[in-house]
Amino acid sequence: MTNLPDERRERRLLILTPFGKDAALVEAMLRNEGIECTVCADVSGLLRELESGAAAILLAEEVVVEGDSRLAAVISRQPSWSDLPILLLTRPGAESISVGNAISTLGNVTLLERPMRVVALSSAIRSALRARARQYQTRAYLLERDQADRRKDEFLATLAHELRNPLAPIRNWVNVLRLSGTGESGPEFLEMMDRQVNHMVRLVDDLLELSRITRGKIELRMEPLELAPVVAAAVEASRPLIESARHTLAVSMPDEPIVVSGDAIRLAQVISNLLNNAVKYTDHGGCITLDVRLERPEVVITVRDTGIGIPMAALPRVFDMFVQVHEGDVRAQTGLGIGLTLVRSLVEMHGGRVEARSEGPGAGSEFVVRLPATALKPSTAGSTISGVPELREMARVLVVDDNHDAADSLGALLSVLGADVRIAHDGNRALELFDAFHPAATFLDLGMPGMDGFEIARRIRARADGRGTMLVALTGWGQERDRRRTEEAGFARHLAKPADLDSLQDVLSSIGPSVHG
Ligand code: ADP
Repeated sequence: MTNLPDERRERRLLILTPFGKDAALVEAMLRNEGIECTVCADVSGLLRELESGAAAILLAEEVVVEGDSRLAAVISRQPSWSDLPILLLTRPGAESISVGNAISTLGNVTLLERPMRVVALSSAIRSALRARARQYQTRAYLLERDQADRRKDEFLATLAHELRNPLAPIRNWVNVLRLSGTGESGPEFLEMMDRQVNHMVRLVDDLLELSRITRGKIELRMEPLELAPVVAAAVEASRPLIESARHTLAVSMPDEPIVVSGDAIRLAQVISNLLNNAVKYTDHGGCITLDVRLERPEVVITVRDTGIGIPMAALPRVFDMFVQVHEGDVRAQTGLGIGLTLVRSLVEMHGGRVEARSEGPGAGSEFVVRLPATALKPSTAGSTISGVPELREMARVLVVDDNHDAADSLGALLSVLGADVRIAHDGNRALELFDAFHPAATFLDLGMPGMDGFEIARRIRARADGRGTMLVALTGWGQERDRRRTEEAGFARHLAKPADLDSLQDVLSSIGPSVHG
């Protein structure tokens, strides 16, 4: 292959004519005009050169042999920005079959009939090279945008992750004050703080989810599951909002069990997102219906409201990222236009689809999710979504986090919930405390300098009484990959920071007072 730097290869003309003399003449003329070119001996040589870059091809009709589709195959695989100009030198007179074929299979073909004046040939070649230069500009633009896009995705992920860290201690302390009744400014103030912090946690969670989805980092734990408990969990999650807006909710499900292949948590998230939107975009005292039907081979889940509706023209856009149809409306100010994007992505990851319907402003809205129904039996051991269990007394708990605020506030919250808590800010202290205190549960921050959560877990597990403690991972990321890693490392739970009250209560209620009682 010709030894040229990349940028010169990209600007060159590849020449393939059967007559060496013709090719040499054209080459000499073009070089004279400062145009880079490479003469190829045959089609194989042309294809080899083409692989490393070319701006255009000058080809004689004679070499376009019938039945040789190799060049056409390469041309058909061009990237979207590329439309390689091909100048085809034809014989005078009637059009041959090979020329007809070349026009239909080689794409951007210009016919140049021989004999040809040198200036005409040179100007045709120049305009082909100019056209190619514009294609390179498009390529540069697309490349730049793809990078910019990746940077934006990375930025979103980092932003969401960083926002979670300060939120964890704030939420913990708000809960401590609320639950212990020691707030001096009155319960309303604390309820307000609680609401605002929870709202911010939700926004940050959505951002994090979105960035995971755009970067293809969400993995589903698919298993055959019954839909009824999933629907119930979603309704429970949305119930406080529904009740505070004094809406009525009617749920209808068929008596027969409906089984889908899916991720229970994610499907509950889909339904809950739709219910929350129905609550949000309906004036107080409205009606929301959640209807589940089997329309084999699909399960159809419909969430309908009597709310402000959606203008018809906006319906196709509502699932797009950051789209808010009711932009001026105060209701839209409580979101980022991400919820429905998550809904659509999750539904599609389940092999389903979702559509929005509305007769227009004031006429209410309807969201219809369709999922493939399966004939499989649901697994019994799979993920269950439990309610808030009863709390047992004085469980011994060790909290390990190098972030003092996070550790202390979580410790305080666990104490308010009835646990006997010790706190360590590094691995060595954690192991010391473990040996002295024999906690029934050990909350470990994963990302710590020096000995990280995984290493501490390993050392605890290696101890004679190391299996008696429930290991709970605390992480800002909470991704499926991390979950699998913590599971393999012997963690029984994996809580994303800031851990919510229900999960903490759940951990406490599933352990005894301590390993040694
Ligand atoms: P947001 O955070 O703005 O609620 P979503 O992605 O959940 O973001 O929804 C996008 C937009 O679709 C909303 O801003 C709203 O204009 C419209 N929308 C969603 N659900 C409903 C509904 N049930 N009724 C009316 N409009 C809705």
